[in-house]
Amino acid sequence: MLPFIRSDLALFTAYKPHPGSDTAQPVSSNQLDRLDTNESPYDLPSELKEKLAWTYQQVIETNRYPDGAHEELKSAIAEYVNESAGFSSPVFTTTNISVGNGSDELIRSLLIATCLGEGSVLVANPTFSMYAILAKTLGISVVEVNRNETTFEMNLEAAQTAIEQTQNPPIRAIFVVHPNSPTANALTAREIAWLKSLPEHILVVIDEAYFEFSQTTIVNELLPLPNWVVLRTFSKAFRLAAMRVGYCVAHPELIAILEKVRLPYNLPSLSMAAALVALQNRKLLLGSVPQTLNERAKLIETLSQQPELQVWDSATNFIYLRLKQNASQLQDTTLKALNQQLKANGTLVREIYGGLRITIGTPEENARTLKNLQVALQV
Ligand SMILES: *Cc1c(COP(=O)(O)O)cnc(C)c1O
Repeated sequence: MLPFIRSDLALFTAYKPHPGSDTAQPVSSNQLDRLDTNESPYDLPSELKEKLAWTYQQVIETNRYPDGAHEELKSAIAEYVNESAGFSSPVFTTTNISVGNGSDELIRSLLIATCLGEGSVLVANPTFSMYAILAKTLGISVVEVNRNETTFEMNLEAAQTAIEQTQNPPIRAIFVVHPNSPTANALTAREIAWLKSLPEHILVVIDEAYFEFSQTTIVNELLPLPNWVVLRTFSKAFRLAAMRVGYCVAHPELIAILEKVRLPYNLPSLSMAAALVALQNRKLLLGSVPQTLNERAKLIETLSQQPELQVWDSATNFIYLRLKQNASQLQDTTLKALNQQLKANGTLVREIYGGLRITIGTPEENARTLKNLQVALQV
C-alpha cells in the first residue's frame, strides 16, 4: 500500500466493466452476445454516423476547448424533457438542466454537493451499484435497506427508521432507480408517496436511465420539489454508451450548485455533437424500443414456463430471474454454474444479487439466450 494513500481505499475493488467477459471461454468478444450491461444492441444508423463524422471533420476544432457551458445541448435536452413530461409549453429551460460525462459524473457531483464531509446516503438493495461505489470512494457512508423479495418494493419502514435514526452523519440523499436495476420494477405509488413525504433537507435522486423503455417519469412532478432531481442518460435507448453523456433535471438552484462542482470542460465536443444528433433524430433511434418491449414480453413468457426459474415482470430493456430454491432437480445446479454455461455458449449476462440480469438484445440474440438457458437448465 502506498503510504500517502487514504487507508479506506485499500478495501475497494475497481469497477469491472463487462464483469462477465474475462472468465468467458476464449471466443472473441464480437462472437459473444453482450447482454450484461443493458446497452442497446443497435449501433447508430450509418447515416447518423456519417453526419457525425462530417461534424468532426468540418465543424469541430480539435485544438479548441469544447463549449464548456453546453448551451446548445442543454436547450435540446430541455425541449426533449418538456416533450417527455407531456408539457406543450416550455416549462423546463436550460436553467433546469446539467450535463455530465455519463450520469456517473452527475451521481458523483450530487454526492459531493450533498454528502461529502457531512452526510450519509441511503440506497435500497438490490439496486444500481454505482451509488455505493462512488459514495465510498468519497469517504461517504452508505446506509442500506432491503427490498421485498417478491415485489422488490423498497422496505419503506426500514428506510423511514434509517432516516430517523442515522446520525453523525445524517442521511442527506437517497438514490432510487425508476425502474430499478437489476430488478426491473418501476416505483410504486406507495414508494413515490413516501419519497414525497421526505423532508426538504434530504435530496431525492430519481434515476430514470431506462425512461425510454418504461415511459414512466416523474419529471412532470418535479417543479414544486426543490429537493428532487431526475437523472437520465444517452447510454441506453439513445445508443450512445461510447460517448458518455448523461443529464439531470432539477430546480435552477440545485443546477447552479452542480455547475460549480463539475469539471470545467467535462464533455468532449464529439460527445456533445453525438447527443445533439441523437436528440434531433429521436424518432428514428427510439423506433427500436417497441421491438425491444415485444421481445421482452416473448422472453418473459417463455422463460416463465421453465419450472426451475422465477422470472419477474419488467418495465425496462432487461429481465431479472432467479433459480427457484426448491426445484429438486437443481440442487446441484448453482447459479454460477448456470452462468458459466451461458458464457461457454456465448451469452454474457450479469450475475447479481443471487439472480441473473439479462439485457434484451436483437431477436437473434434473444433466441440464443432462450436456447442457451434451456440447454443449461437441462444439464
Ligand atoms: C446504465 C445506467 C446509468 C447510465 O450511466 P452512464 O454513466 O450515463 O452511462 C445510470 N443509472 C443506471 C441505473 C443505469 O443502469
